[in-house]
Amino acid sequence: MDAILRASVQRLVQRSMGSAVQLTQIHHVSGGCINEALILETNIGRSLFLKWNRRSVKGLLEREVEGLEAIRRTETIRVPEVIGHDVTPQGVPFLVLEWIASQSTSRDFEIEFGRRLASLHRVGRADQYGFAQQNFIGSTVQPNGWHATWREFWKAKRLGFQLSLARKNGYGDQTFSRLGDRLLVRWDRILGDSSPPCLIHGDLWSGNYLVDEKGCPVLLDPATYYADREAEFGMTTLFGGLGNAFYDSYQEAWPLAAGADERIEIYRLYHLLNHLNLFGITYLPDCLKIMRKYS
Ligand code: ADP
Repeated sequence: MDAILRASVQRLVQRSMGSAVQLTQIHHVSGGCINEALILETNIGRSLFLKWNRRSVKGLLEREVEGLEAIRRTETIRVPEVIGHDVTPQGVPFLVLEWIASQSTSRDFEIEFGRRLASLHRVGRADQYGFAQQNFIGSTVQPNGWHATWREFWKAKRLGFQLSLARKNGYGDQTFSRLGDRLLVRWDRILGDSSPPCLIHGDLWSGNYLVDEKGCPVLLDPATYYADREAEFGMTTLFGGLGNAFYDSYQEAWPLAAGADERIEIYRLYHLLNHLNLFGITYLPDCLKIMRKYS
């Protein structure tokens, strides 16, 4: 961390936590894909988490804070306390959060997580699908706004958006374009009834939750919006990590409708397309496999 960033962080911490608070030691953190991160020790015994972004994707950290606050308001799953966010004089945005000392996962944790995620989906409600502001999935823009039907929201703002981004990024050969167009048409038939608009984390992979000192889940780095709740599982099932105890516990708390596995595969395609757009062609075969299956 350079001296300018350190001075800016010190000022923000004092504004938020009191003028006597000093940063003392700094430790490196690994695991993030987009931002740089550090753990900061303070003279009051409280540890903080700092992340910043030199490429300065405009609004990324503000949108993260809005997502964390939306989840916090449901009082269902813990999120780190937001100490504050600001921009250095050189224009580098940064965010300071409470540091969560994490444990390893366990079967009991997964049961608790499944139950609490169902509560998040049940309590976090809106009248329409979407979110007030566009936000980000990784560093890709995630368009939002409000839609009366999930069918239309998903088609325009999620699947259709990533398909056209992939074309712009040069993946849209004839086969890809044909399968994508067909899938958008078939989507109406595949979808069936949708759940009411439920607040979802939106990017729930194993790097975006922690186990706190009580063995309870803490959600990080959300890409929240009000969705058909099945969309949450597109990401949880993409790289694995959570076991049967998690899914069984969710189902016990609030069962998913018949046919959910097929729809979840298409929600997974959204995240695969985003990975294709962010990280490149190695994700193309997995995208095409799902597009072929459902188009
Ligand atoms: P990025 O936005 O670059 O993906 P993250 O916000 O996901 O970065 O943070 C990277 C890693 O740092 C996470 O995978 C997690 O392990 C850890 N982390 C993030 N926030 C906290 C926090 N408040 N307390 C403790 N560890 C955290």
